[in-house]
Amino acid sequence: MLIKLPELPYAKAALEPYISAKTFEFHHGKHHAGYVEKLNGLVKGTPLAEETLENIIKKTSKNESQSAIFNNAAQVWNHSFYWQCMKPKGGGIPTGAILDKLKSDLGGYNKFVEEFKAAGISQFGSGWVWLVLKGKKLEIAKTSNADTPIAHGFKPLLTVDVWEHAYYLDYQNKRGDYLDAYMKNLINWDFINLQLI
Ligand code: MN
Repeated sequence: MLIKLPELPYAKAALEPYISAKTFEFHHGKHHAGYVEKLNGLVKGTPLAEETLENIIKKTSKNESQSAIFNNAAQVWNHSFYWQCMKPKGGGIPTGAILDKLKSDLGGYNKFVEEFKAAGISQFGSGWVWLVLKGKKLEIAKTSNADTPIAHGFKPLLTVDVWEHAYYLDYQNKRGDYLDAYMKNLINWDFINLQLI
């Protein structure tokens, strides 16, 4: 099957002023689209072309000779997931099951905010910060470059892209300001709660 670029779940300008339409034009329209195109080219005519995106990621994650396929597939998956983790007028203190989980596993919402930001700032170079379920327990995790928790058997609940291309047009080098805006104004906690059901 051909892997397709998913539509954004909102208009390109819907997350302004926190993430600009210009950022989405490049990030979704060029970067994400580029990973999709590259991936389709790399698996064309191979048995992997018949697999789902998740299976391509799992089947190539341990094999160094397939790192180009893994990197592009993981980036396709990570970006599709990241778009869904945000919504207009999102962010702030969640309600529902995730709030209870933050309290029981991470010491509460404020502690989550502090540790999620610290993880984002301390990720050296490109990567992603995640809230994942390891078994039944909530954890904050970081991955480098394209790496993704689904290659390691953890269930992702939330992610933020900390590659410079995610924030440079809007925040330049201020990754911390981008992470603050993400947590205060953008996180789609409804989406995260749905995954806990
Ligand atoms: Mn990105």
